[in-house]
Amino acid sequence: MFDHDVLVIGAGLAGMRAALAASQAGVNVAVVTKVFPVRSHSNAAQGGINAALTDRGDKWEDHAYDTVKGSDYLGDQDAIEIMCKEAGSEIINMEHMGTIFNRDAEGKLGVRAFGGQRQARTFFVADFTGQALLYVLHEQVMKSGVRVYEEWFVLSLIVEGGECCGAVVMEMKTGEVHTIRAKAVIMATGGIGRVFEPSTNALICTGDGMALAYRAGAPLMDMEMIQYHPTTLKSNGALMSEAARGEGAYLINKDGDRFMKRYAPNMMELASRDVVSRSEQTEINEGRGVNGCVLLDCRHLGEKLIKEKLGQIRQLGIDFANADMIKEPVPVRPGMHYVMGGIRTNYDGLTSIPGLYAAGETACVSVHGGNRLGANSLLDTLVFGKRSGQHAAAGVKSKQHAAGVTDAYSEAEKKKIQAILDRPADGGELFGKVRQELGETMNKYLAVFRDQQGMETAQRKVKELRMRYEKVIVHDKGRTFNTNLIFTLELGFMFDCAETVIVGALERKESRGAHTRTDMPKRDDANWLKHVVQFRTPEGPRIEDQPVKITQWQPQVRSY
Ligand SMILES: Cc1cc2nc3c(=O)[nH]c(=O)nc-3n(C[C@H](O)[C@H](O)[C@H](O)COP(=O)(O)OP(=O)(O)OC[C@H]3O[C@@H](n4cnc5c(N)ncnc54)[C@H](O)[C@@H]3O)c2cc1C
Repeated sequence: MFDHDVLVIGAGLAGMRAALAASQAGVNVAVVTKVFPVRSHSNAAQGGINAALTDRGDKWEDHAYDTVKGSDYLGDQDAIEIMCKEAGSEIINMEHMGTIFNRDAEGKLGVRAFGGQRQARTFFVADFTGQALLYVLHEQVMKSGVRVYEEWFVLSLIVEGGECCGAVVMEMKTGEVHTIRAKAVIMATGGIGRVFEPSTNALICTGDGMALAYRAGAPLMDMEMIQYHPTTLKSNGALMSEAARGEGAYLINKDGDRFMKRYAPNMMELASRDVVSRSEQTEINEGRGVNGCVLLDCRHLGEKLIKEKLGQIRQLGIDFANADMIKEPVPVRPGMHYVMGGIRTNYDGLTSIPGLYAAGETACVSVHGGNRLGANSLLDTLVFGKRSGQHAAAGVKSKQHAAGVTDAYSEAEKKKIQAILDRPADGGELFGKVRQELGETMNKYLAVFRDQQGMETAQRKVKELRMRYEKVIVHDKGRTFNTNLIFTLELGFMFDCAETVIVGALERKESRGAHTRTDMPKRDDANWLKHVVQFRTPEGPRIEDQPVKITQWQPQVRSY
């Protein structure tokens, strides 16, 4: 058994920012991650990170208002205010640690425009901002002496006497299962992207942390709010960053028409993502698309700008769409990208279980509500990662380890794994087909447009798939890097996420943000200005409502 004061699960931006903050507060911190830290999905973030810096006349209140409006008034305004107030110091902090942000002609930190915001306030490193931030934080975590358990996979959380006091973890290299005891645990395991197929997310984004917390008794909130990004490639779901439109790219239909003028005459291509995705899907559905896509036209931006600021996505277009954006438009369509919901927390990252925190995409603070603004997620990871780390560290200083935590916890997990390995091979199938069908079902019925019948069909299909999952077999009986087993365990987590997405979506009887029901197309503030919160029970999720926190911005008709 291992002992630490604070155990952080996840080494993306949220996890490493949390670990650094806790370590700086003087407590013993460890990080567990199923992949090498800089392979965490934050590495894929392209376009940038938002902050209202006063040296260019921007105000945090304006950033907060844009975020509230972007969320379709479902975001909690107290949390949004905190995020936007603390944004500037986090950017400066990352710069001082060594992030080399792009600069403008005067030598100041440069900004680009992003969707749903009236001011350009997105700080960036070309089109690989996440990678730049992640490497810098990784250096700082290594320097701080925090122990990092790399390629260790968390199997379950330990809750004793109602408090979270550790986790059971498998060392992937040896297959050994260990108990890690901790006085506080911070969940920073990222999103659920691969519950949908295709997705812009990496294969490792399987919602493990949400399922682990949910199984331990913490509720999930706003799970119905799934963001479809307007510009993804048809062939493999890869993202063409909003940075392209931020730099001035157009969206056109088969007639060469900039159709956004009919849907968002003021903000055009830079309306919020839910609005742009719905507009594109409407163009495609009404026959003005090109092979199920619309076109992202960057030609007028010129070769120099594209090579300097959009080089990575240009290459993605060449490799996966056979289109060089310098010379021709790239076909794109809405694709699953982000989950606004997650483990319910307060603005210090604390969940409903004492000792258990959550931060980053796995958490729902909620600052994104019904629709996240581009470049607010990296900000969320840093601000609430830091706050979780600080709060957890303060809480453990006068706390003892829970005496009841023993290796019995790891023995129980070993038995469960053995039972999976021992399933009879005859007639059983491998995890892959079940996972693919799960993703395709979610993408068919829980996408940009939804309706009751489709969501009920998805619910039935997911139930059947879960029954098949209970019988899947693992051919590899070895202990060393048994990825067949890991993928199978991940698929179990994915089912918990899929079910709560569907239940949340069926529950919300209106259209708001990314949740657009063709059978209930209007927003209904009188009945639905509230969060859908789900608790796990043996019979399925139990639902509670939670009011939205409104500080200074009353809901208004939303137009761009
Ligand atoms: C292509 C793409 C581009 C994006 N661009 C932007 C952008 O420009 N700006 C922006 O604001 N947002 C962007 N986003 C969103 C943003 O990148 C993510 O929301 C954010 O990086 C998530 O960070 P995180 O720290 O919460 O999780 P992640 O970076 O996903 O890290 C999760 C960590 O949890 C660990 N983990 C998970 N499960 C387990 C387990 N069972 N056991 C042990 N460890 C586990 C993983 O190993 C990993 O270290 C983008 C997203 C995508 C997909």
